[in-house]
Amino acid sequence: MEFDPDCLFCKIIQGKIPAEIVFRNENVVAFRDITPQAPTHVLLVPTLHVANAGDLAKLSPTVLGALFTAACEVAASAGLDGYRTVFNTGESVGQSVFHVHLHLLGGRSFSWPPG
Ligand code: 5GP
Ligand code: ZN
Repeated sequence: MEFDPDCLFCKIIQGKIPAEIVFRNENVVAFRDITPQAPTHVLLVPTLHVANAGDLAKLSPTVLGALFTAACEVAASAGLDGYRTVFNTGESVGQSVFHVHLHLLGGRSFSWPPG
């Protein structure tokens, strides 16, 4: 596994910073967002440090797909009948942690288009 010692999510994956982990396999760790925007708000991250979804698509489409597969499993475990998945890619659209993460949100109704 390749970690960045200064990265918040690398520290969570390694257990150096506490988080409520809800799913883990070889490629993916999922934990609850510290500031949930919906009754279910889980972040799914790869177990290697990559800044964003575009970089991960180039490096490993398999791991990129594994994030979504894991999101579906977490959504099913939570009993969600609908959910939203979001990658924020770049500061201009709200990315604040530069270790790629898929947001899984559900448990309330959502509007479209997003803000
Ligand atoms: P972004 O804005 O990069 O798309 O999403 C980053 C997310 O990480 C935010 O929703 C934020 O609430 C969450 N977050 C930031 N710091 C922590 C933390 O220390 N623990 C957890 N579990 N989530 C965090
Ligand atoms: Zn990282």
